[in-house]
Amino acid sequence: MLYNRDMLRLVKKHVAACPKTSATDWKCPKGVHCPFYVRGPHPTDKDAPLIVRHTGTTNEQAARMFLQDFERDLYDLKPEPQPEKPELPLTEAIDLYLASKRHRSIPRQRKLKLQLGQMATFLTATFGHRAATEPSNLDLQQFMNTWEGEYTTLKTRRENMKGFWRWCANSDITPKNIAFSLPVIGDPRHEKERIPPTLTQKRSGKYLRRQLTATTFTNEAGPTSPNKSGRSRLSKDTRA
Ligand SMILES: [Zn+2]
Repeated sequence: MLYNRDMLRLVKKHVAACPKTSATDWKCPKGVHCPFYVRGPHPTDKDAPLIVRHTGTTNEQAARMFLQDFERDLYDLKPEPQPEKPELPLTEAIDLYLASKRHRSIPRQRKLKLQLGQMATFLTATFGHRAATEPSNLDLQQFMNTWEGEYTTLKTRRENMKGFWRWCANSDITPKNIAFSLPVIGDPRHEKERIPPTLTQKRSGKYLRRQLTATTFTNEAGPTSPNKSGRSRLSKDTRA
């Protein structure tokens, strides 16, 4: 039987009572029990230290089975080799995205290029991210925390960034859209209060006419203004 020194194999460690000395000579005299060892390099990990493992038996058949199981375990423990898929750099993903926007207005393209470029710079400088798959939702949130300016501008910026990451997910560049949910900018309640009341032209006309009428009557007739509320209040006063 041939033994390849470069692979995991069975060897014998002869006990003191055994006249044999070679690890590959298994013909020990009757009554002498020399144990088998598994010895050799790791079958898949070339950098692993040399394996020397007691089989726990002096029986050749049992030792062979031990070797078989031991070897299978080594293969099983090895994680599945990941298929080599080149990671698309973030900057290249941005270029591809911008190319898909080449029919948009020039100012819009310039704005996108500037904002996404700033994002890439931040993600690389802060987290060392280079591939498009590396940034996380939290990283984007931290980037947003650095933004300053008017809420309306920042909202547009947020939408622009979301658009890029949505495109990445849809284009299978990233496994999921990391910008699917991002913090809202500004206080939506605050904004509602600031919105001036909007009236249709017809309604605003009515409103103005009513104001004018009220003013006119108040000026000319004083408290006897014949507008509805005035009258009812007046009659109540009379009754009292
Ligand atoms: Zn022996």
